[in-house]
Amino acid sequence: MNLISTLKLFIGGQFGEIIAGSKRFAAGDFGYRIPVGSSGELRKLSETLNYMAGEISVKMREAELRRLELEAAFRDMSEAILVTDGAGIITRINPRARRLMGVRGFEPEGMRLSAMPAGPELSSAAIKALSSGQPVSFEIEPAAAPGTVLAVSASPIIEEGTVRGCVLVARDITGPRKLEAMRRDFVANVSHELKTPLTAIIGCAETLLSGALEDREHGPVFARSIHEQAVRLDNLVNDLLKISYAESGRASVEKVPVDLKALVDDTAQGLAAILVKKKVVIINLVAPGLSVNADRDKLSQVLINLLDNAAKYNRDNGEIKISAAADAGGTRILVEDTGHGIPPEHLPRIFERFYRVDKARSRELGGTGLGLSIVKHLVELHGGTAGVESAEGRGSTFWFTIPK
Ligand code: ADP
Repeated sequence: MNLISTLKLFIGGQFGEIIAGSKRFAAGDFGYRIPVGSSGELRKLSETLNYMAGEISVKMREAELRRLELEAAFRDMSEAILVTDGAGIITRINPRARRLMGVRGFEPEGMRLSAMPAGPELSSAAIKALSSGQPVSFEIEPAAAPGTVLAVSASPIIEEGTVRGCVLVARDITGPRKLEAMRRDFVANVSHELKTPLTAIIGCAETLLSGALEDREHGPVFARSIHEQAVRLDNLVNDLLKISYAESGRASVEKVPVDLKALVDDTAQGLAAILVKKKVVIINLVAPGLSVNADRDKLSQVLINLLDNAAKYNRDNGEIKISAAADAGGTRILVEDTGHGIPPEHLPRIFERFYRVDKARSRELGGTGLGLSIVKHLVELHGGTAGVESAEGRGSTFWFTIPK
């Protein structure tokens, strides 16, 4: 064989290897490397192709990592995300969106958005975004999840000027909406509660100033009324301060062992005036030596509020029994009265701020409507719960727990 034909054979072999290697790269095998021959130009070509395969492999690994990151975000995001194509067919949906939209037991990908349980409301927004090419934002209460409020934004996916689909992102804003409504109610309630005694004070003061001051018989009545209303305002502001402190997150609970029987006795002494007025007796049935791990002042406040109510809403010559039962979980404390009881329809809301069964009676007795909500907060600060059982005409039993 002469030199020329040997060279041809050699170059032919190198070409063959380059072609085979290129085919493997095209098939995605970027780990493969073309054997590098010794011939100048072909060697350079093989090296360049191998370098290119290495670079593509690095870029593909990076792209795969990005894809996995996006996948994890898509899967675990607290927002519900749903993607449709230009015809409103669902192409992707994350687990949160499945839950929010009531998708259970079937695969929604490939189905029409409008056919989903919460679809009609969302689909009209998607249609708007798809047809206008503009993002759309709105709030809905899906029929599939009554009571839930969703903030939804629908953004069109635009590729080279054409709308290819739509991304819907929904956030559950039920909690914040409820909080807003509660705040509004609270402000309205506080204003109303402040306004009533203030109006009475202004009225009485004006009457005194326009002559009643000289009236020895009626003058003192207006002065007493001003004092009464001012005490009421003072009670209200004190209770509001207690509530705002308990809710602020600043309230720390300093737990110490508290002798429950002794605390009940001390608390009862502080309520002597109302107990004497109503001729109500307190029967302290707490076992001597029973100790609870609690913040003494806060526990005392809970007992004051419950005993004060049990006296206020009791019948004359009634009784209040306080008992406690300890088990492995903690201690359950019961305050039982012989009052007129609470009608069952009021029981679920009785611990709400400003909720009263009989507004006029509560006011007449100097109530603010905040006592039980303070109880609830203080008990919850200890990690316990509070509740009530009551039968109309047969008295009420308020209870709370203090965990170990
Ligand atoms: P208030 O200042 O009006 O007493 P609370 O929050 O302490 O406010 O109580 C809310 C309402 O629950 C009261 O207005 C009253 O209607 C009812 N209530 C509370 N305790 C008793 C009780 N022991 N017996 C009957 N009704 C009660």
